[in-house]
Amino acid sequence: MSDAVTMTLGEDYPEIREAVARICEGYPGEYWRKLEDERGYPTEFVRALTEAGFLGALIPEEYGGAGLPMRAAAVILETIHASGCSAGACHAQMYIMGALLRHGSDEQKRRYLPGIASGELRLQAFGVTEPTSGTDTTSLRTRAVRDGDEYVVNGQKVWTSRALHSDLMLLLARTTPVEQAGKKTLGLSVFLVDLREVRGKGCDIQPIDAMINHNTTQVFFDDMRIPASSLIGEEGRGFYYILDGMNAERILIASESIGDGRYFTRRAVEYAKERVVFGRPIGQNQGIQFPIARAHAEIEAADLMNRKAAALFQAGADCGAEANMAKMLASEAAWHAGEAAMQTFGGFSYAREYDIERKWRETRLMQIAPISTNLILSYIGQHVLGMPRSF
Ligand SMILES: Cc1cc2nc3c(=O)[nH]c(=O)nc-3n(C[C@H](O)[C@H](O)[C@H](O)COP(=O)(O)OP(=O)(O)OC[C@H]3O[C@@H](n4cnc5c(N)ncnc54)[C@H](O)[C@@H]3O)c2cc1C
Repeated sequence: MSDAVTMTLGEDYPEIREAVARICEGYPGEYWRKLEDERGYPTEFVRALTEAGFLGALIPEEYGGAGLPMRAAAVILETIHASGCSAGACHAQMYIMGALLRHGSDEQKRRYLPGIASGELRLQAFGVTEPTSGTDTTSLRTRAVRDGDEYVVNGQKVWTSRALHSDLMLLLARTTPVEQAGKKTLGLSVFLVDLREVRGKGCDIQPIDAMINHNTTQVFFDDMRIPASSLIGEEGRGFYYILDGMNAERILIASESIGDGRYFTRRAVEYAKERVVFGRPIGQNQGIQFPIARAHAEIEAADLMNRKAAALFQAGADCGAEANMAKMLASEAAWHAGEAAMQTFGGFSYAREYDIERKWRETRLMQIAPISTNLILSYIGQHVLGMPRSF
């Protein structure tokens, strides 16, 4: 491990927090509620973040990005969520490009990264999950078969978020059947698919009507032809490339949950102090106070774990355990804070204008996607604690 693993405590990156919060002020609850009614995409919000350079935070300066550390990117997403906004429509623009950055050829990086950094090219769709294989990624069935200078893709993805608002999609498909690959983690490949070229030509994208306004879709591939140059890195090693990117994703999603948790506790505390029932503020009752206080403590603990994960990540050290634990702890802390806020607001938590129910629905996702709690626990049990593998 590098000697340079350091972790900042307190409100780090105050200038980023302030700048992001200022943008978020322009997008209050009513903006998000209207989008839910219309099942719309927060185009203006995403544009404002893009123009301020926040979505290109992790892209190196040589490709036109801000070249900021992982912790700065985490602070951006935490602030968005703590402000009551949602980064779900655009967070992937920040990290999906990691596969391209780490494993793409120089030509691919020069071709795509500057456009992704400026926001001109949207790479925010990530096609991994399939209806039949679910979490068992190596059993996925989408096939890509080489045919001269092209690959022919057949199969289906589900929960491919933002595919209708993305120019490019990172796609994981099987290029060598499991029985020939030798190992189920081999024979999978990653492709950078230009959706503008294939939509309606073997690629059909259908929205999914979901519990939250996440612009998620299912994507069908029927003899979709893509150039062989879409392959990222080496054929057959795609599963490892996806795994490589997961720690960044875990840290960033954890920071969104920490932001959600802070939003819920702030709103709950304000309301608990204001709302008077039985002649006193409800926050004077420990039955109201304690769940909020407990959630606050859990959020602070999750934040520490996430800062440790980001510091290790930045130093190039292994952070799989910390990133997974941070994501699990943060998603649970945010949920507990959401539950405390629901209970504190009582009947009014059901009134949409308070935004508590919207955030409560949104924050629940983090215990399921991009990875579910059970899968994290099995990672800790097997890989961190050395217990027998269960699947
Ligand atoms: C709104 C939304 C957006 C999403 N966006 C994307 C996206 O952009 N790209 C993408 O590829 N995917 C996306 N996903 C998919 C998401 O990553 C998966 O839903 C998630 O990983 C769980 O997979 P599954 O739904 O197939 O659950 P399953 O694999 O069917 O599992 C169901 C439950 O069983 C548990 N389980 C399964 N096996 C075991 C076991 N061996 N031991 C213990 N418990 C087990 C799981 O933990 C889970 O709780 C999204 C999902 C949602 C809901």
